[in-house]
Amino acid sequence: MAEVTVYIALGSNLGDRRSNLIEAIRQLRQKVQVERLSSVYETEPAYVTDQPRFLNMVLRGRTELAPRELLDFLKGIERRMGRLAAERYGPRPIDLDILLYDDLRVDEPDLTIPHPRLTERAFVLVPLAEIDPDLVLPGQTEPVAALARRVEGVGRVVRVERGLSIRLIRDVQEEPPPVRLSLTKAGVTGIRRVIRLQGPTGDELFEAEMDLYVELRPDQKGVHMSRFSDTIEEIFGEIEIESVSTLERLAERIALQLLRDQRTVRSDVHIRARFPQERFTPVSGKRTQELYTLIGMAAATQRRVVHLVGVEAEGLMACPCAQDMMAAYAREHLAEAGFSPEQIDRILAAVPTATHNQRGRGMLLVGSDVTIDARDLVSIVENAMSSENYDLLKRPDELFVVAKAHRRPRFVEDAVREMILGLIELYPDLPDDTFVLARQTNMESIHKHDVYAERSGTLGELRRELAGPDYVTPHTTLDAWLRARLEQ
Ligand code: ADP
Ligand code: MG
Repeated sequence: MAEVTVYIALGSNLGDRRSNLIEAIRQLRQKVQVERLSSVYETEPAYVTDQPRFLNMVLRGRTELAPRELLDFLKGIERRMGRLAAERYGPRPIDLDILLYDDLRVDEPDLTIPHPRLTERAFVLVPLAEIDPDLVLPGQTEPVAALARRVEGVGRVVRVERGLSIRLIRDVQEEPPPVRLSLTKAGVTGIRRVIRLQGPTGDELFEAEMDLYVELRPDQKGVHMSRFSDTIEEIFGEIEIESVSTLERLAERIALQLLRDQRTVRSDVHIRARFPQERFTPVSGKRTQELYTLIGMAAATQRRVVHLVGVEAEGLMACPCAQDMMAAYAREHLAEAGFSPEQIDRILAAVPTATHNQRGRGMLLVGSDVTIDARDLVSIVENAMSSENYDLLKRPDELFVVAKAHRRPRFVEDAVREMILGLIELYPDLPDDTFVLARQTNMESIHKHDVYAERSGTLGELRRELAGPDYVTPHTTLDAWLRARLEQ
C-alpha cells in the first residue's frame, strides 16, 4: 500500500508528561515514519478546567496504515500507556488524535477526519502552524498560521524551552578525574552494523563489528559516550548516499570524525567484517561460498591518518614432525617384512604418510599507502597453509585436499614465514616502510591447547633478514609503527 502523510496531535497531563510524549513517539515510530516534530507546548486544560496542565505537540509522518488501522494503532498505544476509557476531555497519560490524513475526509460515528475540534483548539493549531505554517486544511481557505493567530486562548499556549530533552546540569565527562592520569584508550567495543562497500559488481553488504577508541587527557574524566553513536550515525548516514570503497577507508573516516567529535589527540578504529567469496571445489568444480574475515584499521591524530588492511582465513595443516615419526615407523615395519631399502624408498614416495591434522587460522595485516586488494591477502594466507579448506566438498575433492595437505606438512612457524614471503612475491613494489603482521593459530587435534606463531616488522627489516645473514631485531610492532607513522 502507498504511503500517506498524516498529522497526529499528542497530549499528556498525567504522570511524567515529558516521558509520556517520548514513549508515545517511540511506539508511533513502529508504524509511522516521523518527519517532523513540533516544539512542546504547555497549555491550560480546555473544557474541564480543574485538572493538571497539558503538554501538547504535533507531529507529521508517513504511514501505510489505512485511517481506521491508524486509529486502532493510536488507541492501542493509549491503552498500553495506561489510559482508561474514562471521562471525555479528562486527565490522561497520553491522548493521540489523528488531525489530518492526506486530504481525506472521513465522517463516521467514531472517526472524523480532519479532527472535528482542530480549528477551535489553540494547543493543536499553534504546534501545527509551527511545523507547516502554509498548510491549508480541507474546507478552509486560510493557511493554519493565520488560523493559529486568531484562535481563542492562543496566549495560554506556551512553548516549553527545553522541549523533550532533559536539561544537563553539567558535563561530567569534561570534569577532572579524581586520579589525574591520561589513558591510552577509552571507548566502545563490539558495535555491530551492516555496512555497504563497493564491490567489483556493485555495492555489497557486510556484517561488521567495530571497536572505537580515543586517547584521554589526564584532566578528562571520560569519553563522550553518546557522541560515539552520533559519530557512527553520521558516517553511516553519509555512506548510505555514497558507499565507501574499502573497509580501511571506512575506518579512516570514522577515526577522523572521532577526532573532531571527541576533541582528542588520537583515535583508533578497528573493523572486522565477514565477507563471502565464491570458490570452486578443486576436483568436482562445484561452486561454494567461503567466508573470510576482512580487517580494516585506522589511527588518526591532528597531523595524519594511517590505515591498515588485513584478512583472516582458515585452512588445513598437517604436522611435519609426526609425519617424520610415522615414516620411520613404516620404514622399520617394511624392513621387517622383507622389503629392501630401495623398495622402501619407492613405497614411501608413492604412499602419503599419515600425520595429525589441525585446522589453522592465519591472519595477515598490512600497513601501506599502496592499495592492497584483500582478495590477494586471502590467497596468500590460504597458500601458506598445508591446504586450503572448503565449506562443502565432494568425495574426490576430499581426497585431493587430504593428499595435498600431507604432501605439504607445515608448522605454525612455516605458515607465518610463507605468508610474509607470499606478500613480498605478490607485491614486489611495496616500500620498505610498509608494516606487516602475520600470525597463525592451529587448533590442535592431538592436544587440548592451540599453538601459535607471529612475526611483525617493516618490509625493510624483513627483506634484510631474507637476504641474510643478519638477525634483524627488535621487530617493529604494530603500536611502534603506528606511532612513528602518525608522527611523520
Ligand atoms: P479528544 O481526543 O477529542 O480530546 P477523546 O480522546 O476522549 O477526545 O475522544 C476519543 C474518541 O474520539 C475516540 O474513541 C475516537 O473514536 C474518536 N475520534 C473521532 N475522530 C477522531 C480522530 N480524528 N482522532 C482520534 N480520535 C477520534
Ligand atoms: Mg483523543
